[in-house]
Amino acid sequence: MRFPTLDRFRLYRKIAGVKSCQDSNIAIDEKPARGQPPLGRHFHTPKPGAGRLLFFVVLMNGIINFPGLIDLHVHLRDPGATHKEDFGSGTRAALAGGFTTVLAMPNTQPPLTDEPSLELAKSAAREKAHCDYGIYLGAGPDNRATAAPLAGRVCGLKLYLDQTYGPLRLENLGLLHAHVSNWPSNRPLAAHAEGRSLAAILFFAALLDRSVHICHVSRREEILLIRAAKEKGIRVTCEVAPHHLFLTDADAPRIGPGRSEVRPRLASANDQDALWKNLDVIDCFATDHAPHTLEEKDGPQPPPGYPGLETALALLLSAVSDGRLTHEELIDRMHTNPKRIFALPEQDETRIEVDLNEEWEVCAANLQSRCDWSPFEGMRLKGRVRRVVLRGQRVYADGQVLAAPGFGRDITER
Ligand SMILES: [Zn+2]
Repeated sequence: MRFPTLDRFRLYRKIAGVKSCQDSNIAIDEKPARGQPPLGRHFHTPKPGAGRLLFFVVLMNGIINFPGLIDLHVHLRDPGATHKEDFGSGTRAALAGGFTTVLAMPNTQPPLTDEPSLELAKSAAREKAHCDYGIYLGAGPDNRATAAPLAGRVCGLKLYLDQTYGPLRLENLGLLHAHVSNWPSNRPLAAHAEGRSLAAILFFAALLDRSVHICHVSRREEILLIRAAKEKGIRVTCEVAPHHLFLTDADAPRIGPGRSEVRPRLASANDQDALWKNLDVIDCFATDHAPHTLEEKDGPQPPPGYPGLETALALLLSAVSDGRLTHEELIDRMHTNPKRIFALPEQDETRIEVDLNEEWEVCAANLQSRCDWSPFEGMRLKGRVRRVVLRGQRVYADGQVLAAPGFGRDITER
């Protein structure tokens, strides 16, 4: 094990947001994964407003350790469309991308709206998942009264206020009101709400004085409305997807007419600029990993959605290199805030080891996701996950998933 040079030590302190020796309170300890040699040392740093942040830094070869990333928004297509993805391939893609927890959306076939459909997803996940996971319940026309009793078994309730892939959509205001009123106020509520739908869900959050999490915000008017709502004290949090931070509608012709279909749609450069300028309003980055096969994307009725688990971290690290984001801001949005907002459990002895200097070209054929394509195909990215340790076990190393199917745990059934 190598010890750091003084310069490197200072750099790590800077990354960890430690300004002086007085406020550093750095506790250095050795905490190797079970049965593994020590990878490095751990810095515990106090972070204002976010409690005590455990921030790992590996002091070897300039490789940095982050906490296990959390993706609040993935579509694993299981049950019902496992030719696109399933809990096995989707959680392998998650580990390759540095995510140790994923929260799976309910717009499957059948949609997850009741106990039997939820059990289908849960049994598939129990059998196949390589990383930890939670599963959302979907709000539909028939479960306004029966959803709440299932709140303890799911990571949250998903409300679809706008058109996207799958049948779940709340068409009328009364149904929306009922779902928001009935869902327990201490359990997460996540909404796909664009344009005027965003105003509607913010109104209910204010009216009922409850929290609501807005999925994949993509437009200027939306991020500004969320800013205004936060300033007014409305309990709203939000996520933005990497594809809306790194692609615009100008990229659609290059990606192709069917393949570029996504909901919310790719927005203008003006919208993209507003997302970057309002980074302080964005609580989380979530991939909205939504795989479909190339045959489907290139067919007559291309379904909306992009895969994203394996490209998200490298894209965001490129923003760190460009000076648009810091490592600390990245960890806030991919670990600390998602964990707090969704009240997710601690994953002990969990970390990801990232080589900040490794350059690689996105080649979907080499990715773990089953869908075999990426809107970022051919793009050169810098920064790659080398190893992942989850609950003390090395679960991913240099392109190989080492965790067995079924190793992943349901974060709501501990
Ligand atoms: Zn989605």
